[in-house]
Parts: sequence; C-alpha cells; structure tokens
Amino acid sequence: MYKTEGVILRTRNLGEADKIVTVYTSARGKVVAVARGARRTRNRLLGVTQVFTHGRYLMFEGKSMDTLSQGEIIHSFQAVRDDLEKMAAAMYVCELVDVFVEVEEANQETFELLSNTLRMIETGVVKFALRVFELKFMQQLGYQPQLERCVSCGGSVADQILFSREGGMVCDLCKHKVAPVHVVSKGTSALISRILEWDWSRLTILHPSNHSLEELESCMRSYIDYRLDKPMRSLEFIHTLNDFPDSEVTS
Ligand SMILES: [Zn+2]
Repeated sequence: MYKTEGVILRTRNLGEADKIVTVYTSARGKVVAVARGARRTRNRLLGVTQVFTHGRYLMFEGKSMDTLSQGEIIHSFQAVRDDLEKMAAAMYVCELVDVFVEVEEANQETFELLSNTLRMIETGVVKFALRVFELKFMQQLGYQPQLERCVSCGGSVADQILFSREGGMVCDLCKHKVAPVHVVSKGTSALISRILEWDWSRLTILHPSNHSLEELESCMRSYIDYRLDKPMRSLEFIHTLNDFPDSEVTS
C-alpha cells in the first residue's frame, strides 16, 4: 500500500462500472491502476478519478496492476474540463507525459511541471503554458535543445537564427543537411533561453508576443514529432477545434 499525490492523465472504461486510470504520481511516476466502481453515480471514486484531477490517492500494489482504493481532490480542474480549448490543451500535455514516460520512473520535477502547467492552462494562458511545458519537459527528459552552437557541426551560429528538429540551432552551412529548419526571430530565441533557465514563478510574469508563440509552436512541433514514432491523438482534436469559428469554442 502507498499514499501519493497524483494527476490523472487518462482513463479507460473497464467492464460495467470500473475504470482503468493512468496517473502521474509524485511518489512513483506513471502508474496504471484500476478504480473499482468508479463509474457508478454515487461512488466515492467518481470525482477523484476524472481526467486531469490533482488528488491525494491511496493505492494498493497488485501483480499486474495497482488498485486505486481511495482519493481526495486537491484541485479538480473542472474549469479545464468545461472549456474545449483548455481541455484540448490539457489532453495534449497529459498525452505527452504518457507517451514519453515509462511506468514507475518517479520524477518530482515532472510532477510539478505537469500540475503547474494545468494551472496555467486553467487561468486561460493556454498557448504559452503549452510552449513552456514542451520545452521544460524535453529538458527534463534530457533532450534540451542546443542554442549556442550548431547541432550538426558544432560551429558558431550565424545572424539568421535557424532551429532544427534535430535539437537546436544550425549554422548556414549545415541547414540543408538537417532540413526542415525554422527561421526564428531574436525575440523567440531569447524566449527559448528564458523558458529553459527560469523557474516557474519567474516565467508567469512574461507576456510573449503571438509572433514568438507561433514561431516556437512550429519549432517544438517538429522537434517533438521527430522523437515520436506515431502521431499524437490529441493534436487531431486541437486541429479540429481550430477549424471551428471562435465563437463556438470560447463559449
Ligand atoms: Zn553547422
């Protein structure tokens, strides 16, 4: 038996009334557990096993799967589930953690990054929250982009700042070898450095321009996709939302 804080990354139905939950816990990292009866209307596990919930959980170790037997809500993130844009963003963050992290590799920094990101999404600072999460999460996984020197030859980077999906800046000579590359402005390059170096409380005072956020989004998309063997499901959902007129998604 163990007690841990956790964030529910994903849920699946099991049988008539049970749920299988994937939880990112502070004690043990990613854990897959069964929550018996969690889909019954008046069950005490119903609320605490909703996706994105940050809670305190009591788990029992099992042979093939752990059992989530009790829980209390620390933060429900109901406002995230009630808003399509926030929900899509949170799904993307949770899916990234799920696909990049193996079961039971505890990392307190990742746990804090995940819960801070969900809180920032909840306040409505959605795009910046996603970019901060992507960069800091890649950094925690050991994939920090190289910013000072060319990722291909190690040479110095020219005036035009080019970002490669292989992990950072490239020089003029190498740009054809590591195509596609993204041209980024000085402001975006400085934003990347700050996100990597600054801690969370300092980052929340930044208000990056839409232009920088867009540049960074395309850099991070190709950088992350390069390391994945299959496309992320939550991105399809985000793209579908972007095809709707604004009035329908911000209600
Ligand atoms: Zn080079």
